[in-house]
Amino acid sequence: MRVRWDEIPVGGLSFRLDDDSWLPGDEIVCQGSSQCAVSLKKEGARVLFAGTLRLPVVIECDRCLDSFVYTLMEEFEVVFELLTKEAGAGVASEHLCKDSELDVVCLAEPVVDVFSVLVQQVYLGLPGKRLCNDMCLGLCAKCGANLNRCSCDCAKGGSASPFSILTKLKTQ
Ligand SMILES: [Zn+2]
Ligand SMILES: [Zn+2]
Repeated sequence: MRVRWDEIPVGGLSFRLDDDSWLPGDEIVCQGSSQCAVSLKKEGARVLFAGTLRLPVVIECDRCLDSFVYTLMEEFEVVFELLTKEAGAGVASEHLCKDSELDVVCLAEPVVDVFSVLVQQVYLGLPGKRLCNDMCLGLCAKCGANLNRCSCDCAKGGSASPFSILTKLKTQ
């Protein structure tokens, strides 16, 4: 979904996306109902893009590799600026300008690609450490059993040495 700057009315443009069809479904899977509200507003030579996201996203636990639903909540604001002719020569069509407080993105043409901004925000909002549960026990390092669901005998064996299986083979 592309919005041309000259299509944005003076009072701004607000809308909601009540489905998740804008998500790249092969990369991000949403389970349940998503909510997304977006507003675009012209401010002088800039366009202000603000939005809120609430997405139940299916991700994989770092410890046990099970998938679980993480509810992503994001509130964001991005400022778009047009590249000036001089600065724009030979520069990639989109890059981050230096600005201390706000995310300022410079565009080569006065068009905002709404969906791609949203997808970017989803990636930014995903947690760095992904745990299905703070108490997740993870996988057994020896047999790979998911210790949240079952316990294995590895820890009970007494010998914690990873080479114990080798000695077992030798004595046979
Ligand atoms: Zn887990
Ligand atoms: Zn085990």
